Amino acid sequence: MTTSPTDAVRDRVLSLSSGELPAYVYDMAALREHAAAVRAALPERVELYYAAKANPEPEILAALGPYVDGYEVASGGELAHVAAAVPGRALAFGGPGKTPPEITAALELGVERFHVESEYELHMLAELAREVTPDARVAVLPRFNLPVATGSLAASSLAMGGRPTPFGLDPSQADTVVGLLTDGTYPQLELRGVHAHLASGLRAPEQLAMAGSIVNWAVGLAERHGVRLTEVNVGGGMTVDYAAPEDRFDWVAYGDGLAELLGRYRNLTLRIEPGRALTAYCGWYATEVLDVKHSHGEEFAVVRGGTHHLRTPATKGHDQPCAFLPVEDWPHPWPRPVARRELVTLTGQLCTPKDVLARNVPAPGVRAGDRVVFALAGAYAWNISHHDFLMHPRPGFHFLDPWT
Ligand SMILES: *Cc1c(COP(=O)(O)O)cnc(C)c1O
Repeated sequence: MTTSPTDAVRDRVLSLSSGELPAYVYDMAALREHAAAVRAALPERVELYYAAKANPEPEILAALGPYVDGYEVASGGELAHVAAAVPGRALAFGGPGKTPPEITAALELGVERFHVESEYELHMLAELAREVTPDARVAVLPRFNLPVATGSLAASSLAMGGRPTPFGLDPSQADTVVGLLTDGTYPQLELRGVHAHLASGLRAPEQLAMAGSIVNWAVGLAERHGVRLTEVNVGGGMTVDYAAPEDRFDWVAYGDGLAELLGRYRNLTLRIEPGRALTAYCGWYATEVLDVKHSHGEEFAVVRGGTHHLRTPATKGHDQPCAFLPVEDWPHPWPRPVARRELVTLTGQLCTPKDVLARNVPAPGVRAGDRVVFALAGAYAWNISHHDFLMHPRPGFHFLDPWT
């Protein structure tokens, strides 16, 4: 799959010297435009949080600022980092295995929501809240691993719920947990609502079906206990299609569907916390072809860098979409290697057969020295990669911003 970079990205990539490659190039104008469109598609009473783990670069967090209601963090490290990058913004603290020092730090920072992952964590949070913030009431959303229609989960690439996982509370514990939060055991905690992040890689119809079943379950729980739940967080996981980058998540249909769902519940606020679908499109990993070679009937282009910078294709098992930018200049006295076949597999500099960025890409005539720009590298890309393996230099970072 090939896909073209924006003009701004293309111009920057061609202006860099070989020594300045590889480079991550972020089109911040494209990011703003996309985030504004997502925001505009969402109806009232839907709050948009950005899941920082998708890409926590401070520039990205700041650029999203005007379009999001807050940020979802999932570790003490993310908490400190996001609080410093976008000071004063609302933070929700989720994630499994929270430690007492992390919870203490979150209480001290005044995190506005705790997504509680287990009954043990609820007890810990309650005791720490009593010590650290005795005068505050801490808003809690227990996270549940709910059964969802298997059709939608089968379509998803990563399922966190609907099967045995370490995420969230088993639905069988719901009554106990709601009891602890409403019977006076822990007056320092306030049951604000329910959280569920069940799957990733879902299209709008599946996301809507899932949101509907989460809300329905939460309302049933609230009715059973005679309590009011004002908020349901239906998670992130909006799909990014690496095989068809132009085919983006339908935010307009999703927003319309959420408006319809909210029409049935007058006092409810929904919250979503996408990561990937907000930032994937704005990031590009740019490099150059170092060598072109034949091996047992196939052709390989070895690029500068590799999956230690862009681990996404290795992790998800896909071919990272890319585009070639031909460079006519060849400054060396030795002959320039050229591809002779239609299809070329793009690999990196690591000494492992897993260092494959894209297989069998149409690239007739690609030469050493030509540039390659990989798309959809704005989420779960640099920050999930094993940077130090083989000790190659780190890439450069460019935040293309017409505003600055
Ligand atoms: C990772 C994560 C998200 C974001 O998921 P995306 O697939 O990037 O949208 C949201 N909520 C929770 C709890 C997560 O763990």
